[in-house]
Amino acid sequence: MKTQYKKINKVVIAGGGTAGWMAAAAFAKLIGKNLEIVLVESDDIPTVGVGEATIPTLHIFHQLLGISEQEFMAATNATFKLGISFENWRDVKKDYLHSFGFLGQGCWAAGFQHFWLKGRERGIASDIGDYVPEHLGAREGKFAVLAGQDLNHAYHLDAGLYAKFLRKIAEKNHAKRVEGKIDKVNLNDKSGFIDSLTLASGQVVEGDLFIDCTGFKGLLIEEALHTGYDDWSHVLPCDSAIAVQTKTVGRPVPYTRAIAHDAGWQWRIPLQNRTGNGFVFCSKYMSDDEAKKTLLANIEGERLNEPRVIKFKTGQRRKHWVKNCVAMGLSSGFIEPLESTGIHLFQRAIVRLLLMFPSQGIKQSDIDEYNVQTKEEAEHIRDFIILHYNLTERKDTPFWRHCSSMEVPESLKHRMTLFKDSGQVFKKADELFGETSWIQVMMGQGLMPEQYHPIVDMMGDDELRDFLNNIKSGVKRKVQNWPDSNDFIKHYCPSS
Ligand code: FAD
Repeated sequence: MKTQYKKINKVVIAGGGTAGWMAAAAFAKLIGKNLEIVLVESDDIPTVGVGEATIPTLHIFHQLLGISEQEFMAATNATFKLGISFENWRDVKKDYLHSFGFLGQGCWAAGFQHFWLKGRERGIASDIGDYVPEHLGAREGKFAVLAGQDLNHAYHLDAGLYAKFLRKIAEKNHAKRVEGKIDKVNLNDKSGFIDSLTLASGQVVEGDLFIDCTGFKGLLIEEALHTGYDDWSHVLPCDSAIAVQTKTVGRPVPYTRAIAHDAGWQWRIPLQNRTGNGFVFCSKYMSDDEAKKTLLANIEGERLNEPRVIKFKTGQRRKHWVKNCVAMGLSSGFIEPLESTGIHLFQRAIVRLLLMFPSQGIKQSDIDEYNVQTKEEAEHIRDFIILHYNLTERKDTPFWRHCSSMEVPESLKHRMTLFKDSGQVFKKADELFGETSWIQVMMGQGLMPEQYHPIVDMMGDDELRDFLNNIKSGVKRKVQNWPDSNDFIKHYCPSS
């Protein structure tokens, strides 16, 4: 394919929230030597100020950037996270945990769930979480980083402090920050590519490649380039959130809480010093005032700020890369934070662009490939989130009746049917959520397979009992030796 555009010598990042500073730190540190990197942000336009629960893939990003876990945790008041507790989702007072661990080993033909299903049928298997160290650790509030034990964990972090932490890395690696409000995006008359940004001060910031991290509005990708938006609210109807911070009461738990209410769900994200609380809800079924009351009635501890309403439309930009502009962060789309996938998607976008970095000039084939990969990745996550809403036994409010009866994408329907029919789940290459995640959530939401794989019958009941008990006692022994997660943090990051 012919080169469509000039060499990339200068990258301009518009916006300095989590997405902007993640991009600036990564580009500056990893390919910044031969590039000029400029980040423009306005002190007068606040960041969205939420986004504090992560998933284990953040390790990959930190490893790439050479970030020390202790240093990062101390700088962001972070705590460890081993999973998400889904409360009242299957039905009122029916809870389960989606942990980050992997289910105990099965065999070449059948995953562990098949052995567990037969064990359950025979009355010799206990809660599926008993076979996963991360699950038991979360339930017991324990954590450890031990040589030779690969504990799959993520963090709860302070988003504002995280952006500051990344800014230091970016600036140390010679990224430049320009403060000012972007007033105009200047397009080239002939090509339609972005030539420059004009700031309110009159300053003009020119660039070769522009990364739009300006938040929901998508100043470059949408307001200037009119990319269009795929609206997913027919399958993910929540469109509002209220967020408020409180002082942490008691000892922070090593998991995020996602507590379902009448027309949405509440998050509780405990940091070392404070707790992030929020309520994601559907304005068709609940007013802002009612949502505020629901949230305030369900928080603990002294309030540290006034509740703030955030409106959103779930979906994705039709294209994430258009001409010489790539959207990252909220400007590229939004999937509600039920499985804490926002920061993960930013990081994937950054790594994808780095992998395909068009230093010799932008080609349409790069753009097309980038957009296909990004779309598929987001649709996979969308399906996983819909699963939580659709696969519910709740019928107690109009919202839950709507969710349980709504039409869902064929791709998701197929996964649910396959699991119900045969207990099988398959992860395709590049999908974020693996077999263990689908199994934990599908069973947690009440979907039990109708059969297990016949290879399990090669084991007699006694053999199966020993097999299950060995895994369970191994998990118990392991977790027994872990300290309380908060004691561990104090020891691990003494400056926290
Ligand atoms: P923003 O924080 O909005 O930053 C936009 C930046 O652009 C700011 O620096 C602003 O100054 C700048 N800007 C805008 N306009 C201009 C202009 N004209 N001139 C100059 N600068 C400009 N993700 C997770 O991974 N985990 C979570 O738990 C999670 N929870 C979330 C909860 C809610 C309710 C929402 C809405 C999102 C959540 N996310 C979560 C998603 C995401 O991680 C956060 O929203 C994240 O903070 C978004 O960052 P951003 O950089 O895209 O946007």
